[in-house]
Amino acid sequence: MADAYKGKCFCGNVEFEVSGSPVLMGYCHCKDCTGWLGAPIHAFSLWPKDTVKVTKGESGVGTFNKTENSYRKFCKNCGGTLMVDHPGMGVVDVPPAVVDGLKHVPAAHVFYATKTISMKDGLPKFKDLPAQNGGSGETLPD
Ligand SMILES: [Zn+2]
Ligand SMILES: [Zn+2]
Repeated sequence: MADAYKGKCFCGNVEFEVSGSPVLMGYCHCKDCTGWLGAPIHAFSLWPKDTVKVTKGESGVGTFNKTENSYRKFCKNCGGTLMVDHPGMGVVDVPPAVVDGLKHVPAAHVFYATKTISMKDGLPKFKDLPAQNGGSGETLPD
């Protein structure tokens, strides 16, 4: 894996950089992610907070937090997804789809209890979150 990656919003007004290695990559099936994105599933990559930096268009970044757990950041011009700050966990979720050259290597599914589509890929399916991330650690069948 390369050391640093560049990401941008849909229109390109906002650019950011992420460096190092992700803490965890996977798929989230929670109602907040799918509802915000308007998608049946969310591919995520979690990075230590200080490894993600907005490098262009910072004033054009909007933030919405429905809960204290997730601050969802988007471009005010195009509405495109940028990242989701999870202050309680000390990580920022950067969707690999908005980062150039970042390969999504999923290790698990989270919040599989609220899935709308099944993914029979053999990866662990957490009912909510792994225990080390504050969840029950319970897993469900594919
Ligand atoms: Zn934009
Ligand atoms: Zn989610």
